[in-house]
Amino acid sequence: MLAYQHAYHAGNFADVHKHLLLFATIDLLLRKDSAITFVDTHAGRGLYPLAAAQTQKLQEYQHGIAPLWRARESLAEHQPLLRDWLSALDEAQPGRRLETYPGSPWWLAKRLRAQDRLRLFELHPAEHEALAQQPLAPGIKRLREDGLQGLQRMLPVSTPRLGVLIDPSYEVKTDYTMVAETLIEAARKVRHAVLLIWYPLLPAGRHRQLLQQLKDSGLRKLWRSELTLAAPEHSSHGMYGSGMLVLNPPWGLSEDVTRAMQAIAPLLGEAASHRADWWVGE
Ligand code: SAM
Repeated sequence: MLAYQHAYHAGNFADVHKHLLLFATIDLLLRKDSAITFVDTHAGRGLYPLAAAQTQKLQEYQHGIAPLWRARESLAEHQPLLRDWLSALDEAQPGRRLETYPGSPWWLAKRLRAQDRLRLFELHPAEHEALAQQPLAPGIKRLREDGLQGLQRMLPVSTPRLGVLIDPSYEVKTDYTMVAETLIEAARKVRHAVLLIWYPLLPAGRHRQLLQQLKDSGLRKLWRSELTLAAPEHSSHGMYGSGMLVLNPPWGLSEDVTRAMQAIAPLLGEAASHRADWWVGE
């Protein structure tokens, strides 16, 4: 059952939250020379032209990346993270207009150095095929496999460091448990791994089960960032927020992301707010 296609949601507020945090993490990790293997367990197709029929159907980017793009000059003025992220986004545009929204493979591939590796897992045949067509560097592997199982099979990796993005569509309720189990197992195999998990904030509140499972596992150093557009009680249906957990966040991530999110939240909705804390501390 693979019904989800990210093109319907490309560039929405959750993408903005996820990719800004991913960008900030990569930026901090690459300040050290030692090689790193990046893994994207649920890669999607990589690049999303906003004019595509699927993206035009819901136009979620109109309440996500579009207002930030319009305000990019003032956002960039005061925030080095936003300046660099928006400038990278600019490089993905063929003209001066916002025409394309890049997915996680693009954000990861863009910064890859000669010593680093990147593995992209995508199970959906059409999404995988679209990803395979992207002009990425030759060493980047694109695998049509289950991303959670694929990650486990790869571990431990041969590079000194590991960075992982786990970004499923949570179409199946068991995804929450499987994500938690995968993170626990990956952290057991590679203790210093930096793992990022995205989760939706939905009225059913299933993300709480994922968070609790991780807390109960005894893991340490799990940082949480949540962007909410509305209070849960005011959202009878649909996603009211976007959450990210980072295991072993690089030093400085919390401050950089918090500052940037505080600047962009008002542009994403009148009631939008961001909070960050240690879900499990040291
Ligand atoms: N990470 C992407 C980004 O930020 O641009 C978006 C990913 S989207 C939320 C989730 C993707 O996971 C979909 O493209 C879906 O086809 C894919 N998928 C679903 N189940 C999967 C599995 N078991 N293994 C790998 N990919 C899967």
